[in-house]
Amino acid sequence: MPGADPPRDCDVLVVGAGIVGLATARELALRHDGIRVCVLEREPRIAAHQTGHTSGVIHAGIYYKPGSLKAGLCVEGARALYAYCAERGIRAERNGKAIVATREDELAALGELERRGRQNQVPELRRIGPAELREIEPHATGIAALHSPTTGVVDFAEVARSFAADLERRGGRIVTGCRVSSLTPIGEWMVVEHAAGTTRARAAIGCAGAWSDRLATACGAPLEPRIVPFRGAYLRLAPERRHLVRASIYPVPDPELPFLGMHVTRRVDGEVLLGPSALIAGARDAYRPSRVRLDDLAQTLGWPGTWRLAARFRATALRELRAAASRRAFVGELRRFVPELSPSDVLPGPVGIRAQALGRDGALVDDFVVHRTERAVHVRNAPSPAATSSLALARLIADQAERFL
Ligand SMILES: Cc1cc2nc3c(=O)[nH]c(=O)nc-3n(C[C@H](O)[C@H](O)[C@H](O)COP(=O)(O)OP(=O)(O)OC[C@H]3O[C@@H](n4cnc5c(N)ncnc54)[C@H](O)[C@@H]3O)c2cc1C
Repeated sequence: MPGADPPRDCDVLVVGAGIVGLATARELALRHDGIRVCVLEREPRIAAHQTGHTSGVIHAGIYYKPGSLKAGLCVEGARALYAYCAERGIRAERNGKAIVATREDELAALGELERRGRQNQVPELRRIGPAELREIEPHATGIAALHSPTTGVVDFAEVARSFAADLERRGGRIVTGCRVSSLTPIGEWMVVEHAAGTTRARAAIGCAGAWSDRLATACGAPLEPRIVPFRGAYLRLAPERRHLVRASIYPVPDPELPFLGMHVTRRVDGEVLLGPSALIAGARDAYRPSRVRLDDLAQTLGWPGTWRLAARFRATALRELRAAASRRAFVGELRRFVPELSPSDVLPGPVGIRAQALGRDGALVDDFVVHRTERAVHVRNAPSPAATSSLALARLIADQAERFL
């Protein structure tokens, strides 16, 4: 039960009560009768970080390199998530998405997305022209688009709370307000130091989001990749202008970057979000732009990859800075495919911090990354679409953790 004390002993200890940690703990609890699973969360509530600050999009699996973990787990995860939501009465809407090309020089990248989508077996994906785009999204403009009717929306925090309830029904325990400070393998056990004392577990699983590299590298996992936090700010459409967007409208993303580009999304509660931006943040919890934590900043600036990334994407960084500083520039990015949008239509929106893994060479790591050390499994990169993929990703992580049981 959230807030209870951690046990002295358990079979599996999961660090982090985001959607990935909770899905993994639930998966293990469902697989093994009587297994003792405990989740420790540093914040006073579950889904406090990425999971509670998303666009809420159930991705269909279009973007990802065929054969990658993301490609397989997103398609499988979306299918499993829709089925789960139907079973539990959680509202999930297949309201669809259009990826819109507005310039001739985007058509090759749109074609590549179509090819990937087909290879990844994304259901019902179709290339459409400007007239059909207008039928689907009457206020969108483009020269060509991909339409994915099985893309949808859900509240991932609600899904995470439901996973937590499933876990507790199977006897699992979730303790909030309990930061894990170290993991030390000793003989048959992983000794876990945390805010409430010490717990011995047969296996530990790190699903710590923006903090995932710290415990992993302290356990002897490779130093690469490092987490660099990217602040993603949204604007909201004023209620009287929400009719401009029926579902989700995305641009053709920069193929060099793992981000999908600033988009517009009608959330499951009817709110329409615009964004998010993507700027390196001064803290792993920089929900306010002024928040800087010296240890986080030192790690970001001390990592050679950060400087290599900045040098490579100077033009993109400048565009992002302009969008962060000016509402006109922010809305200008989206007016390319929804021309009726105006800066007077928008209100301040939520903020999320992406935990994005970055290599030493300055490459943003695209795929999910999971490392194993003695008695531990560490999720090192679980950016979007990890919320969509959570049920499928949980199976992969649980398979790895079972080696220690
Ligand atoms: C702006 C934004 C938009 C996104 N949109 C989408 C989307 O539309 N669709 C989609 O599929 N995905 C989306 N994502 C990605 C998605 O949110 C993440 O992939 C997913 O939530 C990752 O879940 P997680 O459990 O790994 O991380 P988190 O939700 O970040 O959970 C990690 C948890 O670990 C805890 N923790 C960390 N260190 C410790 C410690 N030492 N001790 C105890 N607890 C600790 C943290 O407090 C946190 O609660 C988006 C992300 C962002 C930021």
